[in-house]
Amino acid sequence: MADNGATEEDLYEVLGISKSATKSEVKKAYHKAALQHHPDKVAEDQREESELKFKAVSQAYEILHDEEKRHLYDTHGMAAFDTSRGGPGAGGPDLDDILAQMFGGGMGGGMGGMGGMPGFGGEGGPKRSRKGRDEEQKYQVTLEELYKGKTVKFASTKNIICSHCKGTGGKEKAKAQSCERCKGNGITVGLRQVGPGLVTQERMVCDTCTGTGKIFKEKDRCKKCKGKRTTSEKKVLEIYIPRGAREGERITLEGEADQVPDQTPGDIVFTLVEDEHDVFQRAGDDLSAELNVTLAEALTGFSRVVLKHLDGRGLHLDHPQGKVLQPGQILKIAGEGMPLKKSDAKGDLYLVVKVEFPENGWTEAAAAFDSLRNILPKPDEPIEATEIDEVEYDSDADIEDFGANSGDPRAGGGWEDDEEEEGQAQCAQQ
Ligand SMILES: [Zn+2]
Ligand SMILES: [Zn+2]
Repeated sequence: MADNGATEEDLYEVLGISKSATKSEVKKAYHKAALQHHPDKVAEDQREESELKFKAVSQAYEILHDEEKRHLYDTHGMAAFDTSRGGPGAGGPDLDDILAQMFGGGMGGGMGGMGGMPGFGGEGGPKRSRKGRDEEQKYQVTLEELYKGKTVKFASTKNIICSHCKGTGGKEKAKAQSCERCKGNGITVGLRQVGPGLVTQERMVCDTCTGTGKIFKEKDRCKKCKGKRTTSEKKVLEIYIPRGAREGERITLEGEADQVPDQTPGDIVFTLVEDEHDVFQRAGDDLSAELNVTLAEALTGFSRVVLKHLDGRGLHLDHPQGKVLQPGQILKIAGEGMPLKKSDAKGDLYLVVKVEFPENGWTEAAAAFDSLRNILPKPDEPIEATEIDEVEYDSDADIEDFGANSGDPRAGGGWEDDEEEEGQAQCAQQ
């Protein structure tokens, strides 16, 4: 960015926070700035400047709120990011969305406390468009898909503005009449029971006129949409799940939600849900898996493929003779974790050693026991005691029974059960 002569502004300074700020401090600073730069709070002649400031703040947030991006910024500065596409903050979050999230205002259909709030970045005219409701969906992905990245195509049926009447719902030259049900308000007031004997008044969009307050006589209605103002259309959509994406990450298809007359269509937003995997566990960019070895392998070493990775590659491990693997021992394989986004680097793979001991009666040969006893290290000195009792034992006991129902927090698992029971008792009393 040397070519435009401008000095790069420090992202931490943009948000007015320190380099050690926590994620929630980043968020707070961002929300504060978002409110400060809202067009309703800014004088007309300062709007342009304010908008630029907000874009800078959005960009700073976008980077600093994301651990991976923040790390990239800390290590490489803005050079790590491609800002050529439409300048800073391009494709950044929408201010109204943030405010809606902060205050929980329902933006859909212009209803609710914040309905019809002006969109940011309008030209200052009175006709700023409202944004339609976003469509939220969960999208389930396997760890393999997150490892390799995936493009998904799917057919979506959505409402679009009727092309015949352009969303008026009426025939050409036909005049709409005031809706009788809502008396032209577009809103009906109903009662809703919220508890025993408790009723609250609720304002709802009039379903007769779909909130417009106007309605066409049957003979005046548009033939194509039958006065509904929208028609449904099938469309093939495509989402791209970048490799290394994480559970809870959101993928937005801008403006692909249902179209509603007089509104900017909302987005379809997919939230990724990561399937549990049979072999691998994931934490951030790292993976872990069990390394199952036989007792013989643990003691004498091995050289074999121990695991099939998420891309189908076998991982071959050499464990030389003379080195013992202990149960629970951790082997770390650097660079075999999940791929990092926008980078060739990968996290690490942690293997937890599990030693498969032989079953009871694994051999009948007495000579085998003798030779094992001779080969393996000898036990410590015997314990000396003046009085010795012979004891019986149960060889298949459960540690959950240790101190069970005693209420003692040191008990083996009994404590949680107690809490559960108490909770149930309280519910029953109410
Ligand atoms: Zn129509
Ligand atoms: Zn109505």
